[in-house]
Amino acid sequence: MPDHSTFSKNRHGRFRDSDMLRELFEATVRRCMDEGLVGGEGFAVDASLIKADANRQRSAEGSETVDWTALAETRRSVREYLDTLDEAAWGAASGVKPKFVSKSDPAAQWTGALKGHAFFAYATNYLIDLQHAVIVDVEASRAIRQAEVGAARTMIERTQDRFDLWPARLAADSAYGSADNLAWLVHERGIEPHIPVFDKSGRQDGTFSRSEFTYDHDQDAYVCPAGKLLRQRQRTYRNPRPLADEDGMMRYRASKHDCDACAMKPRCCPNTPARKIPRSIHEGARDMARAIAETDEYATSRRQRKKVEMLFAHLKRILRLDRLRLRGPLGARDEFHLAAAAQNLRKLAKLLPNGPQVMPA
Ligand code: SF4
Repeated sequence: MPDHSTFSKNRHGRFRDSDMLRELFEATVRRCMDEGLVGGEGFAVDASLIKADANRQRSAEGSETVDWTALAETRRSVREYLDTLDEAAWGAASGVKPKFVSKSDPAAQWTGALKGHAFFAYATNYLIDLQHAVIVDVEASRAIRQAEVGAARTMIERTQDRFDLWPARLAADSAYGSADNLAWLVHERGIEPHIPVFDKSGRQDGTFSRSEFTYDHDQDAYVCPAGKLLRQRQRTYRNPRPLADEDGMMRYRASKHDCDACAMKPRCCPNTPARKIPRSIHEGARDMARAIAETDEYATSRRQRKKVEMLFAHLKRILRLDRLRLRGPLGARDEFHLAAAAQNLRKLAKLLPNGPQVMPA
């Protein structure tokens, strides 16, 4: 009989060092590919929050000074937290201080994203193939949007590298519809974004929203509801200035002369001398996503996107992974990999009722 400590020593030591659970998960993806269950044409990506093994009582205020180095001497989860502070999926994902930080698992994010009571959580991120909802990649991340979008990019790149899978389209919700993410998909990966555009330009005060201004490609100008042009430069500067501001937006301005004489001014720019319209340097990719959103293929992608939500529901209700047992980024990673591998094996068993064919060695 092995000594009882063998299990935890293997789990925290040898298994983790060898990346065994990652290899196990990738073996399930390869098997699904070998059995023809991965189409490779369309993918969907999403993230789901899983409660961490941490509670509010044993946490510090986000602004409180905590001696993490001292805590790291006795807690593995704190060492992992310090090791991942510079990683895009973890500490570097956002500079915003959370309201509370757990002393037992500081990489877990205090979140109120699910409405109701806030809690500490990690995010599990799935990239799935839309043909049979096989999970082609999984990644643990901090439970904030920037980290989830970063995890989606990591998974797309890794799936291309490891399995040579190059999807033509990616379905996702508006959390993935920021201008720079759409541009990355379109220009750097050649993937059609079947994603609602993340757009906060709508106005609630009754004045004209940006959607009421039409962009004219030939003139590189917006046409306002009164038929006047909004251009990037109304005058020429002696020292040329960059066309885009530091936030990656170009500003198109109406002429004060036009606005002063316009009967629609109270509904357009009642508090400013002339109307301004910001346009992202990635507006081309946003326009492409808007055009795709009008197609029948988009309606199909939207329906198919539900498959990834069903996998998360199965993960929580049937596999009972609604709360993590292990702490730290690596603990979350291990549990998410094991769960995704189990879901792929279940898929194999379900879709191949006679069992997978034995592959030649
Ligand atoms: S106020 Fe200026 S920008 Fe607005 S509709 Fe009139 S002319 Fe066009």
